[in-house]
Amino acid sequence: MNDFAHDVLVVGSGAGGAMAAYELTRQGHKVLLLEAGRNYDPRTETPMFRPNSIAPLMGTPTPDKEFGFYDSTVDGGWQVPDEPYTTAEGSEFLWWRARMLGGRTNHWGRYSLRFSEHDFKGKSRDGLGADWPFNYDDIAPWYDKTEALVGVCGTNTGLDDMPPSSEGVLQPPPLPRVPELLIAAAAKKHGITAVPMHRAVLTKPLDDRAACFYATPCGYGCSIGAAFQTTTSLLPMAQATGNLRIITNAMVKIVTTDAQGNVTGISYIDKKTCTEQQIGAKVVVLAASACESARILLNSKNASHPNGLANSSGQVGRNLMDSTGAGLSALVPALMDRPRYNEDGHTANHLFIPWWGHEAQANKELDFPRGYHFELGGRFSEPGAYVSGDLQGYGTALKQQVRAHYGAYVSFALRGEMLPNEHCYMDIDPQVTDKWGIPVPRFHWQWSEHELKQVEHGLKTAKAILETMGATVGELPAAKDAIKKGGEIIHEVGTTRMGSSSKDSVTNQWGQTWDCPNLFVMDGGVFASNPHKNCTLTIMTLAMRNSAWLAAQLEAGKL
Ligand SMILES: Cc1cc2nc3c(=O)[nH]c(=O)nc-3n(C[C@H](O)[C@H](O)[C@H](O)COP(=O)(O)OP(=O)(O)OC[C@H]3O[C@@H](n4cnc5c(N)ncnc54)[C@H](O)[C@@H]3O)c2cc1C
Ligand code: SF4
Repeated sequence: MNDFAHDVLVVGSGAGGAMAAYELTRQGHKVLLLEAGRNYDPRTETPMFRPNSIAPLMGTPTPDKEFGFYDSTVDGGWQVPDEPYTTAEGSEFLWWRARMLGGRTNHWGRYSLRFSEHDFKGKSRDGLGADWPFNYDDIAPWYDKTEALVGVCGTNTGLDDMPPSSEGVLQPPPLPRVPELLIAAAAKKHGITAVPMHRAVLTKPLDDRAACFYATPCGYGCSIGAAFQTTTSLLPMAQATGNLRIITNAMVKIVTTDAQGNVTGISYIDKKTCTEQQIGAKVVVLAASACESARILLNSKNASHPNGLANSSGQVGRNLMDSTGAGLSALVPALMDRPRYNEDGHTANHLFIPWWGHEAQANKELDFPRGYHFELGGRFSEPGAYVSGDLQGYGTALKQQVRAHYGAYVSFALRGEMLPNEHCYMDIDPQVTDKWGIPVPRFHWQWSEHELKQVEHGLKTAKAILETMGATVGELPAAKDAIKKGGEIIHEVGTTRMGSSSKDSVTNQWGQTWDCPNLFVMDGGVFASNPHKNCTLTIMTLAMRNSAWLAAQLEAGKL
């Protein structure tokens, strides 16, 4: 390492870590990035042109490939070999990890919605949860920069749930599909508007990345760079500056400190040799994902920091939030036996339904405080083993039914805001360690009435729209049975939250920990709340804004 004198050491190469590396290296600072997973190159490893028809079990999800045979996650999933986690008695929590360069950005859904002033200031409005320590106007220019760099398609809708991007920032969205237009028409009769989804997918070429050609599932990865993943964008861009060096298979164990408690660097396990290594650093940026960064901080406890590093507030590991999730789908007779044509698009939904109930909540007409959105499903998608659904029968009659039903189901996936509560947190399991002897996280989870009432409302609304489309829906499940498990929506955030005071938060608005000025967190751990909009665009925007601030501190000699 002697030939590379790094200014900043970044842990993790996913959304937050890669953006931090991009911004710092762009500004001339040398960055050493440590990644626990193996090297991964989408240009050579992505199975994007392989159809389900040649996959084992027609591509059906299996315990080691939970999003289907060709899902691009390597060395990860709900379980990671050699890296267990535990859940406290009475709690259910799922934790998705991807041990590979680029982390979970290699196969995320790419839904990319801005938070609004409304989202940042929930507590000021209804007294619940926590406000963020800045206003929407402070972050709006950074959303513009991030959307333009990443490449986000969508439109400015003028709806109160969707703050506009500056002129020319968004790429054009793809056209809606027929089932989506049908949903939009039915929703309109209920006073609800469907609009183009914002997605980190290029519909026009950008730098050396090609535009989407609307043919292959984005979850397999995208070797042409159209679906955003850090391995085809931020990481090569940062490497091109000559200021980035990456060490893969480097599992960071703790942040190290000197006798006075000042941060001096990190200690990591070289997974190839199973040896522990130490690297010094002037500044450490943790972006290992919300729960991994909190784990590292809690495991870094020592005499100067007896409750864990940067934890004088006691908030590290607390305020763990996911999005709420629930789904409803039904067969729409009007869509049966449609003539066949290509409806692939950019894989995910082209239209979605943003939250429409701000006014009703302000008028106290709803019995739950925070909003949700619907991600819509319905198209001729690549057939897999489940193409026949629950149809029964044999021979020609069954085949005819399967053909008639193909492309005629539509679905509503609810994603909603959850409020932090005292029962949802992670700590360190006192008994269990991973393969390298590093203590693992233990999750505690309990949904509150706020989330259950929100899901109940969502299911009723989806049912009403489906019935307007002519579908038969039947009795709805109870919200407690319909709501997904904690962690299952894979939007876990909040475990090192930012705030205005060191008493009740872990970092300031720049992701700088209150207790250690040269220690930053730049993943979803810093979220003060978890609005219904998918979290990653905001993780990247904060990482860019906060890295620019960090660069200014370095240049001013303050760090
Ligand atoms: C199937 C799926 C769909 C999703 N869809 C969406 C979506 O549509 N929109 C959205 O906003 N979000 C979505 N997400 C969530 C999104 O992927 C995450 O919010 C985002 O990737 C988080 O970024 P991150 O940098 O915090 O973590 P990650 O992207 O997970 O990156 C963290 C990196 O740190 C590494 N690491 C962890 N621990 C250590 C350690 N101790 N030492 C060194 N390195 C370490 C990991 O290996 C990993 O590479 C989805 C996720 C999944 C899995
Ligand atoms: S649909 Fe488009 S964005 Fe998605 S993997 Fe295929 S080319 Fe890439």
